[in-house]
Amino acid sequence: GYRSRAAYKFLEIDAKDRLLRPGMRVLDLGAAPGGWSQVLAAGVGSRGQVIALDLLPMDPVPGVVFIQGDFTEDEPLERIHAALNGEFVDLVLSDMAPNISGMRAVDQPRSVHLCELALDLATRVLQSGGHLVIKAFHGEGFDQLVRELRRCFERVVTRKPDASRANSRETYLVATGFRSACRSPVR
Ligand code: SAM
Repeated sequence: GYRSRAAYKFLEIDAKDRLLRPGMRVLDLGAAPGGWSQVLAAGVGSRGQVIALDLLPMDPVPGVVFIQGDFTEDEPLERIHAALNGEFVDLVLSDMAPNISGMRAVDQPRSVHLCELALDLATRVLQSGGHLVIKAFHGEGFDQLVRELRRCFERVVTRKPDASRANSRETYLVATGFRSACRSPVR
């Protein structure tokens, strides 16, 4: 079994978009309690690498390097770069969501900000041709985010897994084929 229902969302996405391959190096942002990490570790196998990050602690997942920290701060980013040791990654995933205050004027910009940060990191660490999956919420800033993704990736699709139906505004953006012309330097 999996630790979270979220695992089934990623399984649905991967069944459609066939992102995971043995031997891949993967970054899992907003990983706790670890459902996606479990699926990822199994998919990349012993030759692969999974680096996971969350604000909250996470029980160890075999084969996963876990970093606890706030993705909006510099220190956890530095630890991600240190763990990568100069290697590019094949797949960046973000299931991060801000703590919901219930006020859309507060929650929507926070959520867009997390997406922008995930895209920014992806442009520094993704292999040419690599992929990015991010959870985004419909609302202000969503269309702009999709435009930025289209600039940096060959193909961008939105996915609404059945396991995600209960949350009407939540959507996953699946961007494949990273264009290396879009790459930013590691800071
Ligand atoms: N994909 C996970 C799984 O399969 O178990 C579920 C992720 S849960 C929906 C969203 C996670 O994003 C939470 O664990 C939360 O702590 C994390 N998160 C939100 N903001 C964050 C931030 N600024 N830095 C790191 N993690 C963050």
